[in-house]
Amino acid sequence: MDTVDVLVVGAGLAGLNTARLLADAGLDVAVCERRTSLDTGIRTTGIFVRRTLTDYELPHLGPAVRRVLLYPPSLREPVELVSAHDEFRVGDMAGIYAQAVKDAERAGAQVNLNAGYPHKATKARFTIGADGARSTVAKQLGLDVNRRLITGIEEVYPIRTGSTPTFHCVVDPRLAPGYIAWVIDDGEHAHVGLAGRADRFPAPLPQLLQRFRDSFPTPTPTGPVKRRGGPIPVGGLLRKIVSPQGLLVGDAAGAVSPLTAGGLDPCLRMSELAASVTFDYLRSGNKYVLEHYDAAALRRRYRIRSAMRRGLSLVREPGLAELAFTGLRTPAGKAVAKRILFT
Ligand SMILES: Cc1cc2nc3c(=O)[nH]c(=O)nc-3n(C[C@H](O)[C@H](O)[C@H](O)COP(=O)(O)OP(=O)(O)OC[C@H]3O[C@@H](n4cnc5c(N)ncnc54)[C@H](O)[C@@H]3O)c2cc1C
Repeated sequence: MDTVDVLVVGAGLAGLNTARLLADAGLDVAVCERRTSLDTGIRTTGIFVRRTLTDYELPHLGPAVRRVLLYPPSLREPVELVSAHDEFRVGDMAGIYAQAVKDAERAGAQVNLNAGYPHKATKARFTIGADGARSTVAKQLGLDVNRRLITGIEEVYPIRTGSTPTFHCVVDPRLAPGYIAWVIDDGEHAHVGLAGRADRFPAPLPQLLQRFRDSFPTPTPTGPVKRRGGPIPVGGLLRKIVSPQGLLVGDAAGAVSPLTAGGLDPCLRMSELAASVTFDYLRSGNKYVLEHYDAAALRRRYRIRSAMRRGLSLVREPGLAELAFTGLRTPAGKAVAKRILFT
């Protein structure tokens, strides 16, 4: 049986980034991933926000998007928000994961696909749960687990529109209860999706997606259509995310904006903290070092967004959503929306 310093469970963005940083620091690191290929079972649209684009160098990004249109259920008179900056870029996630594997391996980590956790072939001094919203590591280590989740589904396909890259967001509780339906069209790809509370979907998700496509003018595919989806934790960062046996990072730790459901930026930032705390702990053996992995400090950032999410989930009737748009059309409403969407 192999013995390593750190076993990272999950080869998503959080796991691969953490593994690379730890291997770079000289630790012996193995990653175990239950998928057989990282091209399949992708669970993200891959929208990276300005803050991430500024702070991290990412490969395989699509054209910049500066324009957002927000629609009420009637789809009439969308609210237009335009930024002076490149606010979003959609990543080719298969390419981004492939590059992250290469980088982790170059740093010295072993990345094992088709290797589900608990992974009997590898014994580790410390285990990092980067295994997504429904983390097995969290359960095995007695850490907190995500309880508030929404579910998303989307289709992605190549397009050639020549139109201004635009992120269309539709607030309609009949399609996306407690969240939104979206089309992001960057001129090269279209992502058409919706997400919401699983207990409130009025029909099976594929049927709702079809209904959305029929009601909204989506770009025409010029190539194969791929479907993705999965759970998104929206309860905010969990409280107990570290123990002397291991820690949680990314979705496993609930590190997703409760309002926008964006988790890619938190994955990158939190994996830096996870790697530095793990390194210090394994080097010193001092368990007080683990207190630096402090969920309370990180959770503060999510407090206002959690309150706004609760507000969004109160919008259960289309009429109420239409009414909310009256406020959104005012200069103050637009300013708030810009603050949330443009970082
Ligand atoms: C439909 C959808 C669209 C989204 N769009 C965006 C977006 O555009 N922008 C944004 O910022 N955020 C978005 N999010 C959220 C974001 O994608 C996630 O927060 C982020 O990808 C989480 O990364 P992660 O590495 O923590 O987890 P994941 O990417 O879920 O990776 C976890 C990995 O662990 C593996 N795994 C699970 N269990 C085991 C096990 N027992 N053994 C071994 N391996 C295991 C899984 O196979 C997976 O590869 C979206 C989420 C969904 C569902």
